[in-house]
Amino acid sequence: MNVKPHDQQNMSIFESRVDTCKVLSVEDDQDYQDALINALSTLNYDGKDVEILTANSAAQAGVIIAMNPDISVILLDVIMETDDAGLRLIDTIRDGIGNDLVRIVLLTGQPGSAPADDIMNRYDIDDYWSKPDLTQDHLQTIILSNLRTWHHLKDMKEARHGMQMLIESSQRLATKRDILGYTRSILEEVSQLLNIKKGGIVCFSDTADGEIEQAIIVAASGELSGYAQQKLGNVFDDHFLLQSISDACKEKKHVFIEGYSILLFSNKELEERVCISLVKLDRALLPNELNLLQVMCENINVGFRNVALHSKLTELAYFDPTSGLHNKNWLTREIKNMSPVDIPCAKLLMLHLEDLAHTEMVFGSKFVDQLIKSLCSHLHSYFTDTIHIVLVERDTLAVLVYASQVYDEKSLEPIIHASLNIENATHTVDVIIGSIEIDQFKHYEAEQIISAGESALEQARRKGLSFLVYCEKLASAIIDRYALLTDLREAVINDQIEIYLQPKVSLEHGELVGFEALARWQHHSGNFIPPDQFIALAESCGLIGKLDQNIMRRSCLAVKALVKEGIIVPISVNVTGSEVVRPDYFEHLAALLHDLEIDPQLIELELTESQLIEEKATICKQLKVLKSNGMKVNIDDFGTGYSSLAYLSTLALSTLKVDHSFVWRMEDSTKDWQILKMIIDLGKALGLTVIAEGIETVAQRTQLTELGCQQGQGYLFSRPMPLDQVVNWAEKYSKDLGHTL
Ligand code: C2E
Ligand code: MG
Ligand code: MG
Repeated sequence: MNVKPHDQQNMSIFESRVDTCKVLSVEDDQDYQDALINALSTLNYDGKDVEILTANSAAQAGVIIAMNPDISVILLDVIMETDDAGLRLIDTIRDGIGNDLVRIVLLTGQPGSAPADDIMNRYDIDDYWSKPDLTQDHLQTIILSNLRTWHHLKDMKEARHGMQMLIESSQRLATKRDILGYTRSILEEVSQLLNIKKGGIVCFSDTADGEIEQAIIVAASGELSGYAQQKLGNVFDDHFLLQSISDACKEKKHVFIEGYSILLFSNKELEERVCISLVKLDRALLPNELNLLQVMCENINVGFRNVALHSKLTELAYFDPTSGLHNKNWLTREIKNMSPVDIPCAKLLMLHLEDLAHTEMVFGSKFVDQLIKSLCSHLHSYFTDTIHIVLVERDTLAVLVYASQVYDEKSLEPIIHASLNIENATHTVDVIIGSIEIDQFKHYEAEQIISAGESALEQARRKGLSFLVYCEKLASAIIDRYALLTDLREAVINDQIEIYLQPKVSLEHGELVGFEALARWQHHSGNFIPPDQFIALAESCGLIGKLDQNIMRRSCLAVKALVKEGIIVPISVNVTGSEVVRPDYFEHLAALLHDLEIDPQLIELELTESQLIEEKATICKQLKVLKSNGMKVNIDDFGTGYSSLAYLSTLALSTLKVDHSFVWRMEDSTKDWQILKMIIDLGKALGLTVIAEGIETVAQRTQLTELGCQQGQGYLFSRPMPLDQVVNWAEKYSKDLGHTL
């Protein structure tokens, strides 16, 4: 028994020993205090000395308890500075200091009195005795039984705390998906569980009996944090330690030596490797800590399995199984997670391997696999900086390069004409490269960045180039185009594209001879999108058929409305060649005219010269059908294509519309004037009506009339206008006829 004399009371707070059981006697009666110390002088518990700390007042006791959280039992006098000083101290201990473990035995001065019910109920005490009833034996029994209870409670509390930490650590470990992140976490979790801050390392050893000195440290923390990425043998020269690690690996068990705890993880998920975690310790591990560690190690092993499983799933999701190269998903993720530091120097090169299908057909798929592999090594040796190769399609690779250097066609020549060694023979592959600087596209989604790379490649191929760098301006134009396409689809499907009518007049006398229907699309932004733009877009995405049908229907309804107003002239409708040649085109048109009760002579078709050439093979028959049904067909924009006279004469045409470019240039260019004259003469010779479009000035009109052109259309007469303005215009026009025109 180790008792401090009361005159050294304050010292005892700091000098108490670690491996003793502490009992605190709080008593203001010095004689009783001395007797108590004397009575407990021979006591020991579980082989440990019982150390008696003493306090003479509740106030002094409070300080001692706060500084010694390992006091197990308090013998507490009730009446000290005040009548209830002892009782007040209980609240301080439980609620103020927060010590709910220490056993409190209340001692009162009155002999034989039973504890008042309200005291037992109100205060959190464990025992209640009257001093006169206490014999020495009795006191020792009370102390020993409370020491035992305190130790049990303490173990339970620590176990609960340990379990809590284990659960939390398991939860944290379970969030780790990659093996490296996981190993780093092991270190953190073990250190946290054992409350050790000195640090540790994690390394993998290749085989259970591999040379331990060669194991690479994959994670390091605390005092050992500088050891990461080094070989174990290079940083530790302690022979005994290295031998112990080697033993742990061989025997596949954890080893605890002075100063270090060596934990070993091995399961089939790690294949031939073992994972060693070495934690620096400045104390021996306690039995309960060893138990917790054991459970944690089991958890870690399960974790390795989960991480391995996750890696396998990742492999399936992010790698091409045949080549083992990254796939497009991987590239998307990589771009998404790219660090801002890397973005300024990141480039995406899309490589298309020309004629690969042909090569595969001739040499077989194994040869092509070899070829791709060989190209990858070639790429790795060409680029001195970090690169990642991704297989986008069988014949398309993406290379993500982190380099500040600028590449051009010349510097990339060894890739563009790649000389590869396959099966001991040299094989040359022609590669087309489309490239983008990621920095220019950093505000785009990862998927859009990849699409921009693909567009770069597509542009290069379309233009017959070996290398093309795609700029953001070009890409954003494409993105805008696609956004417009979505809107156009909606507008066409909902029949929101209207028609404006532009009059055609006789040049000789000026009378109205017809109208041309021109499509007008007012975008929801309020702007009118020019037909040159949206017609081409509709053609490129298969919407043109539906659009032409809508315009035709609207034109038919316009004819009907004008006839009602006494304006009985044909409306010509621009149609697309590829639609007209459809076998059922005429049937549908005839049905529409029939349903709306429209005279076929009041609807004319306008087909451009270039469309007539494109559809040469099939158009002839179809035009004849139209003509035999009383419909006229105009050849639009004449002079811009290269149709031969002989071909034109075979087509059932009725009108030839001279392209506006000749009209606009004829005054300045004699050559154009001559061509124009030739076109007008040619048209007449073929028995066609000739009309000139784009007439803006009186001079143009006069010259065209002199050249024998019969009809005209242009801003001089009227701009295209909506149907509801046509009647007014026509009235005014006929009134003015002869005065201004
Ligand atoms: P186009 O058939 O040659 O139509 C004549 C174009 O010249 C029209 O342009 C018209 O507004 C414009 N124009 C008429 N007079 C003048 C003038 O004096 N000066 C100037 N500067 N321009 C004049 P728009 O409406 O922009 O149409 C452009 C082209 O779009 C048309 O050329 C036609 O090929 C096509 N298009 C228009 N509507 C349709 C349609 O409903 N279906 C199809 N398939 N194509 C259409
Ligand atoms: Mg036209
Ligand atoms: Mg035209």
